[in-house]
Amino acid sequence: MQLRLPAEIATQAEGCLRYPLAGWLSPRDLCQALLEEGGERVTLRCNAQVSRLSRLDHQWQVETDNGKQYRASTLIVANGYQASRLPGLEWLEISGVRGQISYLPAGDWLQLTRPVCYQGYLLPAHKGAHCLGATYDRDELSLNLRGQDHSQNRQALATVMPNLNVPDATGGRAAIRGSSIDHMPVVGPVPDRDFYDNHYADLHKGKRESSYPVAQYQPGLFVNAGHGSRGLVTCPYSAQLIAAQVNNEPLPIEQSMSDLLHPGRFLIRRYKRPE
Ligand SMILES: Cc1cc2nc3c(=O)[nH]c(=O)nc-3n(C[C@H](O)[C@H](O)[C@H](O)COP(=O)(O)OP(=O)(O)OC[C@H]3O[C@@H](n4cnc5c(N)ncnc54)[C@H](O)[C@@H]3O)c2cc1C
Repeated sequence: MQLRLPAEIATQAEGCLRYPLAGWLSPRDLCQALLEEGGERVTLRCNAQVSRLSRLDHQWQVETDNGKQYRASTLIVANGYQASRLPGLEWLEISGVRGQISYLPAGDWLQLTRPVCYQGYLLPAHKGAHCLGATYDRDELSLNLRGQDHSQNRQALATVMPNLNVPDATGGRAAIRGSSIDHMPVVGPVPDRDFYDNHYADLHKGKRESSYPVAQYQPGLFVNAGHGSRGLVTCPYSAQLIAAQVNNEPLPIEQSMSDLLHPGRFLIRRYKRPE
């Protein structure tokens, strides 16, 4: 294979690709840093499970399981695989894919300065441990750590670094990815469902696109979810896109890309191919 990329982007060596600019980050540290940067502009409310969204007095109201209510003129639904569980958003085709990472104790067995990526990944040591990831189990929502998943992560590593004397995992973390049916993130304004149903339901008849009215949306309601396995890469771009949409500013990405991410695509596909 001939690599047609500048050397500062990627080089080929010993059967692998090297990305000199590649890096890694700790999601927990990133979130902490973002909160600190946000300062007084951000209020974090933990353990507040939102069970209902409603529109009252030109504002969005969210209700939580512990009986609290919050209101805002703009609401961005960003709750991962659970976005389609909110009443009114069930048509978002996002489902859960369980994943487990394993923590391997740092030590003489490995001196790593860059991440190694293959079917899984192994990261340089951070706070005394290497992170080894990750398993995939579609439609599984258990957060229990499993020994067999640690073994699976180790086996994947052994296929690319068979001579490593890998110690046992000392812990790990299981979580659920939100994956859309077409594997693209779901980012943008939330359609006015009634308007869509009333005006686009006959899309399967093949009429000219220009004969349809411009889409209408729920005012101030956006979704940013379905980031699958790559949220650390796609979330910052998506946040910029939504910020531009909220503020009616020029989009930071091409319109065609924004269309691919658009939440309304699931409805449009249904109208084009009714069951
Ligand atoms: C094992 C594993 C390894 C991964 N490795 C990588 C990697 O190497 N690189 C990478 O880029 N990505 C990786 N990912 C994917 C990455 O974690 C996700 O893409 C990213 O977390 C998506 O961010 P999010 O904010 O959209 O969703 P989430 O991180 O899932 O956050 C959603 C939040 O919403 C909360 N929530 C849900 N429902 C409600 C509700 N009703 N009310 C209130 N809060 C609610 C949840 O508790 C959660 O805190 C990995 C994922 C897993 C599981």
